[in-house]
Order: sequence, then structure tokens, then C-alpha cells
Amino acid sequence: MLNISQKTINSKVSCNSIGLHSGANVKMMLLPAPCNSGIIFRRSDVESGKNEIKAHYKNVVATNLGTTISNEFGTKVATIEHLMAAIWGCGIDNLIVELNAEEIPIMDGSSAPFVFLIECAGINVQGEQRRIIEVLKKIRVEEKDKFVEIEPAKEFAVDLHIDFDNKKILQQRFDYHSTMTSFKNDISRARTFCFKHEIDHMHKLGLAKGGSLNNAIVVDENGVVNKDGLRYEDEFVRHKTLDFLGDMYLASYFIIGHFKTSKPGHSINNKFLHEFLMDEDGWRLV
Ligand SMILES: [Zn+2]
Repeated sequence: MLNISQKTINSKVSCNSIGLHSGANVKMMLLPAPCNSGIIFRRSDVESGKNEIKAHYKNVVATNLGTTISNEFGTKVATIEHLMAAIWGCGIDNLIVELNAEEIPIMDGSSAPFVFLIECAGINVQGEQRRIIEVLKKIRVEEKDKFVEIEPAKEFAVDLHIDFDNKKILQQRFDYHSTMTSFKNDISRARTFCFKHEIDHMHKLGLAKGGSLNNAIVVDENGVVNKDGLRYEDEFVRHKTLDFLGDMYLASYFIIGHFKTSKPGHSINNKFLHEFLMDEDGWRLV
């Protein structure tokens, strides 16, 4: 992982879909960005000067059913985690994400369509070296029965565990190891999921208006409702890993270290990044 150049995409690419929670149509375009710019979201429906938001953990303002970031003018972008995971998985350092609405398109509920878009655009190796976060000591954050921890390691790894009170899911574990796991093959196709009994409640809160069997797995007491079943036998834990990777890329740099987490979620993921990155003895940029 050392001596790696920064990367962006070769040319602009775009897609259309709806927002999972807003239900609104959205057009999104990915554009190349210069070295050291990071991942920048830009709202084309908001006046310039107030319309850019950096993908950064300190810009996270909401974590209920998705990660939402905002700038100081209150301009927001919601449900960024599946796109952030794809950008991380494709090894992209610098990118502009332009969209004409508040929510990232949900596509099929996974990261695979975004990986496809980035592959269509092609990857451009840039002139400057990538800087990476090296972990110097173990940090652990707990919240009731959940935890996220990281410890120093030579490679990037995540051991992730979930535990749901449902026959189809119950306990699942996934070990992501950078030398053995392929983000594209093993993670990117895993879709978001929800329980059928939660849908009415989410609709009452004005959420999941764009949700359907085309962009989510729905689970009830008898199992998976979707006719075609699952894409991976353990698709649920793979999707939670996808969400986790997307949220961790809000560190703004790739991290070399070994994560362990049980029952992660957008809220504890963000709390972890605050505690980890605010502790200056715990890491350094190399
Ligand atoms: Zn997700």
C-alpha cells in the first residue's frame, strides 16, 4: 500500500435513479478532480459558493437510516454510504460528485452500479503520492451492545458481526481482508435490507418513500420476500460491511489497520471516527 499514486476518474459519467428516502428523481454525475481535493459533493440545484460539501466525518449531521453530510450553509447530501463504499473500493482519492437533488440515487440498493460507472469512466493515475492513515494504538468505542475498534496492522481488515432477531438473518460474520477479499466481487453487489414490519413506521416518518423490491431486500417472519432471493447467502452481513467501509472513508484517507465491530451502524461509525481521529496519539499520516 505504500508508494501508491492518487487516483481519479478519466472522464465524466452520469446516472439517473430515485432517492431511497425522498423518492425524488435525481441525476448524478461523477467528474475527475485534481490531486489532494478528496471527495467533493456538489449540488447543481443550489447557488454556487454554497453548494459544495466535502466527504468528511465532521460534516456528518444525520445518521438515521443513512449517512447525511452538510456544509456550513445547511446544504446537504443524504444516503452517501453506498457511493462512498464504491469510491473506496475502486481506490479513488479525488472525485467530484454532482447531483441535482438532496439524496444520492439508490440504484439497486447496492454499490455495484457505482462500481460499474467508475469502471466506465476509467481510472486516471495522478502525479502525487497517496497519504494513508497508519494506526498507532488500539481504540475502542462502545454503545450499548455495539462496538467498533481498530488496532495497528500491516494490512486493512474488518471483522464484522451482526445479530438480528430474525430467523433468516440471526448472527452472521464477515472477515474482509485486503489481500483476500475483492470489494467488487465479494461486497459491492450486496443490497440494503429492511424488515417488513418497519416499512409502515418508516413511511409515517416520511422515510423510504422510494423503497421497493427493486432497491432493497425485504425480510418478514418467513424469510426473504423478494422473488429472486439473495445475491449472496450472507448478503446481509456483506451489506453491513459495505455500509461500514463507506462510512469509514469519511476519514478522508485510506486507513491501514484492523477493524473489529459488532452490530455497527451509521451513528456509532461516525462516533468512532470522531474519537479515533481526534486522538492525535492514535494515528499518523504517512
Ligand atoms: Zn446500506
